[in-house]
Amino acid sequence: MLNIVLFGPPGAGKGTQSQKLIARYNLVHLSTGDLLRSQITQGTELGLRAKKLMDEGLLVPDEVVIGMIESQLANNTTAAGFIFDGFPRTVPQAQSLDALTQRYDTGVSCMIALEVAEEELVKRLLERGKTSGRPDDQDETKIRKRVTVYNTETAQVASYYAQQSKFHGLNGIGAIDDIFGQICAIVDQHQPATPVADSQAATDEVKA
Ligand code: AMP
Repeated sequence: MLNIVLFGPPGAGKGTQSQKLIARYNLVHLSTGDLLRSQITQGTELGLRAKKLMDEGLLVPDEVVIGMIESQLANNTTAAGFIFDGFPRTVPQAQSLDALTQRYDTGVSCMIALEVAEEELVKRLLERGKTSGRPDDQDETKIRKRVTVYNTETAQVASYYAQQSKFHGLNGIGAIDDIFGQICAIVDQHQPATPVADSQAATDEVKA
């Protein structure tokens, strides 16, 4: 399985690049932000509780997002792989993702971080807020709060993956297709090896 963690502050371009990666590698997209917004739209208890935190630019509790990822993995057992967008955002979330993927004899293949300076993020998110309808994209104070939360709580996740030699940082400013090309070059280095059984079958076929 190919499991990519796409990382970066809000507004770094994770959503845009996720769509392109899904099309190229046939992956299932798991965005905890999208999953939470869907709970809000459905008016669930979980959605109501999460909305207050999300509107303030704060993280929702680890167990909430971990539970959502757990059920998504269970519902997609035949997937070729996943792209995790906006998850994990804390070290306990990253540890849980390792434990959850191990259940399916797989793990995180690589983590790609899109790096963008705060002023550019604020500009991009205010622009997005004009059409996204997201309250957390429409208020500069809330946007800056989300960037601060990313810098203080989420950036430690990068060290977690660096310790496993899975971290790759990329400049997230530039043409979308150029950035996508750089992401693909990294992903291709981490493509899972052909399973032993398959390569043996291929060798047998050649011999025959
Ligand atoms: P996003 O769409 O990824 O920018 O997420 C929007 C908001 O949802 C964040 O500001 C958080 O309040 C919440 N959220 C999304 N993913 C997570 C996560 N992995 N951990 C905690 N909170 C999250």
